[in-house]
Amino acid sequence: MDAPERIAVVGAGAVGLTVAHDVATAGARVTVFERDAPGAGMTGRAAGICYDAYAEDIDVSVADRAMTRIRSLSGTDEFVFHETPYVFLARDGDDAAVSALEEAVERMQVHGREVSTVTGDELADRFPIRTDDVALAGVAENAGWADPTAYVDLFVGKCEDAGVEFRVGDSVSIRADPPGVAIDDVVTARFDAVVVAAGVHSRRLLADAGYPIALKPYRVQALVGACDYRGPTVYDATNESYLRPHLVGVLAGDGVEPVEADPDEWDETADDWFVRDSLDAVRHRTETDPAVERAWAGLCGATPDRNPLVGAVADGVYVAAGWHGHGFMWAPAMGALLAGEIRDTDGVSVPDQFDPKRFDGDESFTVVEGMTLDDDS
Ligand SMILES: Cc1cc2nc3c(=O)[nH]c(=O)nc-3n(C[C@H](O)[C@H](O)[C@H](O)COP(=O)(O)OP(=O)(O)OC[C@H]3O[C@@H](n4cnc5c(N)ncnc54)[C@H](O)[C@@H]3O)c2cc1C
Repeated sequence: MDAPERIAVVGAGAVGLTVAHDVATAGARVTVFERDAPGAGMTGRAAGICYDAYAEDIDVSVADRAMTRIRSLSGTDEFVFHETPYVFLARDGDDAAVSALEEAVERMQVHGREVSTVTGDELADRFPIRTDDVALAGVAENAGWADPTAYVDLFVGKCEDAGVEFRVGDSVSIRADPPGVAIDDVVTARFDAVVVAAGVHSRRLLADAGYPIALKPYRVQALVGACDYRGPTVYDATNESYLRPHLVGVLAGDGVEPVEADPDEWDETADDWFVRDSLDAVRHRTETDPAVERAWAGLCGATPDRNPLVGAVADGVYVAAGWHGHGFMWAPAMGALLAGEIRDTDGVSVPDQFDPKRFDGDESFTVVEGMTLDDDS
């Protein structure tokens, strides 16, 4: 079969924009459909943390590709990747987290990651963070953060340069046979392929077209506080919270609710308990006293095996969703891989492990957060 020439992408988040750009530069005519504004979905709410601290082959190869690309983009059009080590730690008394951390670091090292374990004292020698409660920490050197909104702006520009058409302002539905996009039930134009990169809305869009996928949204929260913090990104495995430096001080998050959320009806404001607990965690770890500038909630997408759903669900209908909180850092790689698969580029395709058809779409499964130190981290 010939590579599709006319491609519709639904969703202008980090993933949709990257796929759109990459298929357009490979020669396709591309239209992006976005109901709100580019980046207005979860990309605009992301913390922007990136790292390669993975312990499985497949994750490592995606992360390698993503980190190389994100660095190559840094410095262009206001987009900056801030090199910042990623510290993940277990506190005194949390033996389960300590052994999970040891195992995870060992497996990361087997996969050639630049990751080491350090004691609390060693951590204190290197970074300006409090460590007297740290039993053991891992330090991943190949890590950093970027502003997801700047990534969106960069890729909107790159898409426009590559001739991508944007249709913004309508919530669309999709058709499978033949592939198409409809606004108010009226099919817009003929496409050879449709890519659904609608984040947590992808399940409903595809289910309505007859292709259910195994995706569950779950709610997470974050805040930005003004203070003077110049340390690393820190993930505390004992209380499952994270923080990273931010231009005004610190960005902190946790608040994972491991229950399914309704993508059309959820609370976008941060909970009081989350703000209180996050501030406590930041004060404790950074020994600063941040003033909250902004706090918010968002949704991430879970799958039964914590791998994303990327690839064809039917002839000419593709999905890219289910990132478990890693969709921003993986977008530069997954966009390229999916574009390669769609355009049938030699040697560039999505790993089989991410095939969305590995699930029927009606599985019952428990939501597990993405940033953990257990066997699949
Ligand atoms: C608080 C928080 C912190 C996070 N931190 C990180 C992090 O540090 N690192 C990381 O890698 N990831 C992080 N994530 C996860 C990350 O935000 C997502 O994985 C990523 O943004 C997914 O991008 P996307 O393009 O798939 O989806 P989205 O950015 O949600 O884009 C989907 C787009 O589709 C549009 N859309 C939906 N339905 C329709 C329709 N019917 N018609 C037209 N358009 C439609 C939406 O408006 C939206 O713009 C975080 C998420 C949250 C909420």
